[in-house]
Amino acid sequence: MAVPSMQNEMDSDTYQMAVRQLDLVAQRLGLERDVLERLRLPQRCMVVSIPVMMDNGETQVFTGYRVHHNLVLGPGKGGLRYHLSVSLGEVSALAMWMTWKCALVGLPFGGAKGGVRCDPQTMSPGERERLTRRYTQEILLVIGPQVDILAPDVNTNEQTMAWIMDTYSMQVGYSVPGVVTGKPIVIGGSMGRREATGRGVVYCVQEACALLKMPIQGARVVVQGFGNVGSVTAALLNELGARVIAVSDAHGGVYHDGGLDIPQLLKHQQEKKTIVGFPEAGAITNADLLTLPCDILVPAALERQITADNAGEIQCRILAEGANGPTTPEADEILRERDIFVIPDVLCNAGGVIVSYFEWVQDLQNYFWTETQINRRLRQVLIRAFREVYAEVDRTQVDMRTAALMLGVGKVAQGERVRGLFP
Ligand code: NAD
Repeated sequence: MAVPSMQNEMDSDTYQMAVRQLDLVAQRLGLERDVLERLRLPQRCMVVSIPVMMDNGETQVFTGYRVHHNLVLGPGKGGLRYHLSVSLGEVSALAMWMTWKCALVGLPFGGAKGGVRCDPQTMSPGERERLTRRYTQEILLVIGPQVDILAPDVNTNEQTMAWIMDTYSMQVGYSVPGVVTGKPIVIGGSMGRREATGRGVVYCVQEACALLKMPIQGARVVVQGFGNVGSVTAALLNELGARVIAVSDAHGGVYHDGGLDIPQLLKHQQEKKTIVGFPEAGAITNADLLTLPCDILVPAALERQITADNAGEIQCRILAEGANGPTTPEADEILRERDIFVIPDVLCNAGGVIVSYFEWVQDLQNYFWTETQINRRLRQVLIRAFREVYAEVDRTQVDMRTAALMLGVGKVAQGERVRGLFP
């Protein structure tokens, strides 16, 4: 059997893309060479092998990661992803984006991310539980409520967080709800966390529509990815009177020019585990869906979906990035020339980490807030960040992503300078 190689894992397209974004912003900020060098690489990466007893009695060994990109502003914070595409480079890029996002919206967290290379759809609940618990055990040294706090991401959910919380708690001997966010409410989760990312996307879209004097009522919406982020965004925009004309998941897409019946689509998805085959809608591929004429396009699946190849054909007015890293720097240039209003990921999907912060604060205080309080505070934090980014656009005449990254990276660099260099 060949020896598995990790040598080139950092060299992934996604990591290159995150570094390229940083370099562009560093140039504009005039960042010192040493600060930039420190920010280009993660502070700490943990790679673990995870042996799991499968249902058929055989042991399968998975590879997992937990990356701390930068902890200058506080403990690490970031999701956990289960997907076959997971690599050290992908996880490191996602951790870097978490650093900028937390800094931009003013949370006392550094950026982190985790992942396990696996296909959870082919695994039983028991196998997923054993994988999650052993992964938690292996990364125990680098997580904790004051060290690094995990949350759900692609293919992980409240149940995954409950297993992590339980495994961590068993090891230390008492319950530690603050080691994860996005967990079930009964064990210290927060009201509104499940919907927070999608809700935040919608708050940002509302703000962009107001700027562009574009009514949401009747706006044509396309959503790629119908998981936590995509489905909540679609449902909330639908409630506001927008017309969701197409959505997709990993299996394909559905399209109805008159607008999809979103509550029915959610029911269909729950029963069939996919949106494909939804009656009264035509089929559409993920590639074609992205270039449909629409007012609001929401990528809410994986990174690098909008590239130099298709950016010229994107036909929306607002691109609201629910996913992390859906647009490459080359595509950014094309979208800028074509005057498409981009709400960048670090702002657009920050609702998730904002309410995760609220959940963590509630866990530390053992004092819980109402859903109304959560949503009101989420809106306050996110709209303030949106307006700060837009003011930066106005001031420096750059695009929304560059402005958002300038604010995020700038704050982290400021933190690096005042803390100085240890030892
Ligand atoms: P999820 O697992 O709940 O849903 C992902 C969805 O994308 C599923 O519908 C899946 O079928 C679909 N998908 C996967 N591959 C696809 C492909 N190639 N083409 C089209 N669809 C595909 O995950 P999620 O939590 O909704 O995360 C989606 C994105 O949002 C990710 O980029 C994630 O990093 C980002 N994000 C999530 C949160 C959160 O709170 N969950 C917060 C911020 C950002």
